Amino acid sequence: GHTRVPLIAGNWKLNLDHLQAIALVQKLDWTLKDGKHDYADAEVAIFPPFTDLRSVQTIVAADKLKLAYGAQDLSQHDSGAYTGEISGAFLAKLDCRYVLVGHSERRTLHNETDEVVQAKTAAAVRHGLVPVICIGETAEDLEEHGPSAVPVAQLKAAIDGLAPDADIVVAYEPVWAIGSGQAATPDQAQQVAAALRSTLAEVLGDEAAQRTRILYGGSVKASNIAGFMREPDVDGALVGGASLLADEFAGIARFSQ
Ligand code: PEP
Repeated sequence: GHTRVPLIAGNWKLNLDHLQAIALVQKLDWTLKDGKHDYADAEVAIFPPFTDLRSVQTIVAADKLKLAYGAQDLSQHDSGAYTGEISGAFLAKLDCRYVLVGHSERRTLHNETDEVVQAKTAAAVRHGLVPVICIGETAEDLEEHGPSAVPVAQLKAAIDGLAPDADIVVAYEPVWAIGSGQAATPDQAQQVAAALRSTLAEVLGDEAAQRTRILYGGSVKASNIAGFMREPDVDGALVGGASLLADEFAGIARFSQ
């Protein structure tokens, strides 16, 4: 067992405009408030598109919802001639607590290198946001290098230069498990999570390693979350598809009820 507060995070990707976002946030909150149960077994965070964030901020503040939220990406720059980019300063002003950094779709479709992911991680921390650093191996990486080598190298690159007291979250997401319906086994997730925690200890020290939450991501559903949460080094989940359905996502957030 671990003492870290679990985190269940929902990555909406390119889905739901701001009106649909308001509807889903309300439905999720009602579902989690369902009288028979506690709200959730975890801190719950959602990652809507940028254009939804102002609406989410308004409803979370007005209705005092117990939901955290963040953006799916940020610029490595604070301001200037970077057309189309969004600064961590803007996200902080919208009361974002978190921001995803280095999601595999950003790495693959937008050519984000380890260097860019490192710069974005630093930018998030600079603005008081908690970066959710996404790492994970492809099926080819797994075959060539085994389970932990690529995720460990990606993590080392991303946290290079961070202060030991930096507040970060690590999301281990095997690329072959994302959106494939083929989740890793809890045992596979635990094996890599343990290697990642050792890496955190090596680079940032033992205190950081013990405090930092490591999430599993890749085809997580209400029906398979409990197995992951029983593993000692898995502290939550980053959820894609299933985070768009209030009942399913609430079921994940209530993994032990
Ligand atoms: C993700 O993209 O972060 C993810 C885990 O997606 P899914 O849950 O749909 O596999």
